[in-house]
Amino acid sequence: MTSAATVTAAPGPEPAELLRRLRARTGGGAAGGPVTHVERVPARAGTTAPWPRWAPEELRAAFARRGVIAPWQHQVAAADLAYAGRHVVLATGTASGKSLGYQLPALATLLADPRATVLYLAPTKALAADQLRAVAELGVEGVRPASYDGDTPRAEREWIRQHSRFVLTNPDMLHHGILPGHAGWSTFLRRLAYVIVDECHTYRGVFGSHVAHVLRRLRRQAARHRRTPVFVLASATSGDPAEAAARLTGLPVEAVVEDTSPRGGLTFALWEPPLLPPSPEATAIDFPDDPGGTEPAAGDHGAVELATVRRSALRETADLLSDAVAAGTRTLAFVRSRRGAEVVATMARRSLDEAVPGLGARVAAYRAGYLREERRTLERSLLSGELLGLASTNALELGVDLAGLDAVLMCGYPGTRASLWQQAGRAGRSGREALAVLVARDDPLDTYLVHHPEALFGRPVEATVLDPTNPYVLGPQLCCAAAEAPLTPADLDLFGGPAAVAAVEALVTSGALRRRPTGWYWTHSGRPEVDLRGTGGAPVCVVESSTGRLLGTVDPESSHFQVHPGAVYLHQGVSYVVDELDLEDACALVHAEEPDWTTHARDVTSLSVASVRSYVDAGPVGLFLGEVDVTNQVVSYQRRRIGSGEVLDTRPLDLPTRELRTVAVWFTVSPQALAAAGVEPADVPGALHAAEHAAIGLLPLVATCDRWDIGGLSTAAHADTEAPTVFVYDGHPGGAGFAERAYGIAASWLQATRDAIAECGCETGCPSCVQSPKCGNGNNPLGKNDAVKVLDVVLAALREKTGS
Ligand SMILES: [Zn+2]
Ligand SMILES: [Zn+2]
Repeated sequence: MTSAATVTAAPGPEPAELLRRLRARTGGGAAGGPVTHVERVPARAGTTAPWPRWAPEELRAAFARRGVIAPWQHQVAAADLAYAGRHVVLATGTASGKSLGYQLPALATLLADPRATVLYLAPTKALAADQLRAVAELGVEGVRPASYDGDTPRAEREWIRQHSRFVLTNPDMLHHGILPGHAGWSTFLRRLAYVIVDECHTYRGVFGSHVAHVLRRLRRQAARHRRTPVFVLASATSGDPAEAAARLTGLPVEAVVEDTSPRGGLTFALWEPPLLPPSPEATAIDFPDDPGGTEPAAGDHGAVELATVRRSALRETADLLSDAVAAGTRTLAFVRSRRGAEVVATMARRSLDEAVPGLGARVAAYRAGYLREERRTLERSLLSGELLGLASTNALELGVDLAGLDAVLMCGYPGTRASLWQQAGRAGRSGREALAVLVARDDPLDTYLVHHPEALFGRPVEATVLDPTNPYVLGPQLCCAAAEAPLTPADLDLFGGPAAVAAVEALVTSGALRRRPTGWYWTHSGRPEVDLRGTGGAPVCVVESSTGRLLGTVDPESSHFQVHPGAVYLHQGVSYVVDELDLEDACALVHAEEPDWTTHARDVTSLSVASVRSYVDAGPVGLFLGEVDVTNQVVSYQRRRIGSGEVLDTRPLDLPTRELRTVAVWFTVSPQALAAAGVEPADVPGALHAAEHAAIGLLPLVATCDRWDIGGLSTAAHADTEAPTVFVYDGHPGGAGFAERAYGIAASWLQATRDAIAECGCETGCPSCVQSPKCGNGNNPLGKNDAVKVLDVVLAALREKTGS
């Protein structure tokens, strides 16, 4: 890749030597040392192919200037299909040169037809900006590539619409700006030859289902100008990319999946932080993740057990990062929470500065919520080699192609094997050997993984899941489509056939759409308000009171956790204390201060049943579908001494609760039935919690949803149900249709859940059965065998009820 080729820092030690040095610090190497497994991913020689005959000389020369002498076979395979007018998805590893696969046919077409246009979509503005640079650098005449997003000055927009032939944007801008304003885009749409969908694996779950309809709306607008553009998609390695791409576009898509780019070997180490002698250091700086990724389970999911006996994964990652940087290795550390990324960077800087004053300046944090200019500066510094170490939240947030790194550290399992490989794939530049280290967090899931490497290395990556027929997505999207142009019966085929017909009828009944002889009309003033990402409002600005300077932003969902009054907020290693969180103006006022404590927000989650839509009374067991209110409140925060982790005090907070009205499926079991099945009262919470996790894990098998779209809560006694209960709810306001599907097929869903647990070969529970990568309770308590008993009781009762 181009930018990787510009990396010029002196190489650090070879991976095996680097790993030896990293182990040396922990006194490792002995049995029971921190490295539990080393996987060797062998080097692969690249396979080139001749340039396609249709590729114009001018373009070959442009790529040659960028360092591409001969393309890889997979690039040519995808480009040939696209140039022949076939929809194609190129699903290969990080840094395998996917962009050439779509740039070649798209630019060749723009050269051959001086009027043709191309629309490029990336999930983030940063990625689109990076792609803009790459296309502009090719210098193909008459293409006039331009980004069109929320940051594009008004004055430039009209020019772009009329004159750019390669427009780069994101699904949000397509949805909110381009499609509603399609009249202004008619010249562009009339000539649209290709639609490039980059990083298409990020369009999953409810967001992915929305984007699927945004693309159908785009296809409809193009069709009104008699255009049927070719879709070229690029994906990270994922299970069944052709199927996912077909769902996303609504078109038959062919997949190119064999990666023929060369890569150096990867040494992949699984690392378990050492046990510590009982001392306060064991509980040093560690805290729960941002709430966004956790499911509120029973109890306090902000709790940090003081009994932790392993070294914190954050501290371990920071030490590995500083050792790697000290060795001259260009290293990226992935940390799951934003605050964790700041902490890792800060700790690494401090220890580097202690060793060699000034060396700390070569490490920085990089995360969402930074301002655009700041991110660009960091990206430039890393490319130039000025920075050697970066602690970052996740791969998608990285704007530039940062594939040119020598080592990647992962602080905690990122949740899926697909993300694990995407992150590890950032290591290895120009065919050089690279090192990846997964540092286990002290929870059962990570612990299990570092001791069961076969669960990580012997299995295919997960498929990308989305469901465009989800009525909760389809209805609002049909309103958007109707607002752009009245819907005709032919349009309904495009939007999903029978599901779209049913959705339109429901919209007419509810008064959202109006039926006329010529079609279905949106007759309201204003446009339908549909949020693709469901982020719930404007980001909260973090402002330094004394200067009025905007430091960054925080997502509204996590603002109560991160910038409550009194919170210590880290920004690029500088510490601030929050004076005031103004929820009305979505603004947190802070002042610079470096206290010797950190703050840890504690929250309480509860769920109440608002209404029951449908239920099955099966004697000792009840199965329900209904609306629930999930309430979350950040109630207090702890101040903990930096270094020792000693809790100084707990201070109350006066923040409003936040409610999610959504749809849930739940079952209840009488305590008597549980006792009869041999589940001791003390074991009921663990049994229900384990059943809840497994049920959430199995739902994607039967409901085409994504585990990250669903929340759960289990409790041995619930005020509304007056019984031991397991709730599974849609994590989106108003529901997303998943709980409803689960209710409809409860018996087969819970049977699959029961079998998955019972058939798992593990002793007490593992990620394949009852552990969850996003548990807010640290996967505790969990009762694997008791969960089978609970589900047997439920299934027997349901069978008896239906007589099958
Ligand atoms: Zn298991
Ligand atoms: Zn849980």
